[in-house]
Amino acid sequence: MPNVGTLQAGSRHDLRVGASPDAPDESEAESLAGAFGYVHSYESSSRYDGPGLRLVLFVSGCLLRCTYCHNPDTWHLKDGYYVSADQVVDRLAAFAPALRSLDGGLTISGGEAMVQRDFTRRIFAGAKRLGLHTAIETSGFLGDRADDDYLASIDLVLLDIKSGDPETYRKATGRDLAPTLRFAERLAAMNKPVWVRFTLVPGLTDDVNNVDKLAKFVGPMKNVEWVEVQPFHQLGAFKWKAMNLEYKHANTDPPTPDLIKRVLDQLRAAGCNAR
Ligand code: SF4
Repeated sequence: MPNVGTLQAGSRHDLRVGASPDAPDESEAESLAGAFGYVHSYESSSRYDGPGLRLVLFVSGCLLRCTYCHNPDTWHLKDGYYVSADQVVDRLAAFAPALRSLDGGLTISGGEAMVQRDFTRRIFAGAKRLGLHTAIETSGFLGDRADDDYLASIDLVLLDIKSGDPETYRKATGRDLAPTLRFAERLAAMNKPVWVRFTLVPGLTDDVNNVDKLAKFVGPMKNVEWVEVQPFHQLGAFKWKAMNLEYKHANTDPPTPDLIKRVLDQLRAAGCNAR
C-alpha cells in the first residue's frame, strides 16, 4: 500500500503534480476499494459550486481531455495526494456547523468524481451522516457507474455538458457525448435536481447550432434548475506550460458580453433557466 499523505487545503488554481508516482492509471481506478483515494486539494469557502457555502473537494483522475481544461493536474491519480476517506470526512466534520448554518454543504469536483466512485461514495455517505447537502460536479461520461445508491447520497448534480453537438464534443473532450446525454436523461427520469454547466469557449463551443442542440436537449427537462454559462478564461494556462502539454487556446480570448448574451438568449428561448 502506498504511503498515506495529508489532505491539502488550497485552491483549484494551485498546480499540484507528482505526489503519488506509484498510483494506478486513472482508467483502472474503478477497481480501487474506496477506503483510500487520490485528492488534488479542497477549498473550504466556495459560494459558486452549489447552493450556500460549499466545501469543494477536488479529486484526481479524469478520462476526458478537454482542450481548455483549467486543471490538467487533476487528470492523473499519480498527481494527487493519497488520503483516506475517513481523513476527508473528519476534515469535513470540522466545517460542518458553518456549512449547515450557511445553507451549504459538500461538493465533490475534480477531475471526475466517478473515476474513484467507491472513494467518493464513502465521502458522500460521511457528509450525509453529518447532515450536509451534497453535490457532485461531473461530466457525466462515467454516469453508468453511478448506481442508484450512489445517486441517493447526492442531492444535486452539477452536470457539465460541454457541447450539444457530438462532433464538437469529441473535438473539445476527446470522448463521446452519448454517455453524458444518457446520464442526463436518467437524472431527468428520476427527477434529480441538476444544474447544467456549459463552458463557452470562443471558436470551439460557441457555434449557434452547438448551443441550439444543447438548449433543445435541456429545455424540456423539469429537473434542471439552472443552466450556467461559464465563460472560458486563461487561469489554467500556466499549468499546461508547467506540465509540458500542448495548449491550443493560448490565443483564445474570453467570450465578449455580446456573445454571452447571445448564448443566454438561445438557452432562454428554449425554456432553460439560464444565467
Ligand atoms: S472533464 Fe473537467 S477535469 Fe476533465 S478534462 Fe474536462 S475540464 Fe478537465
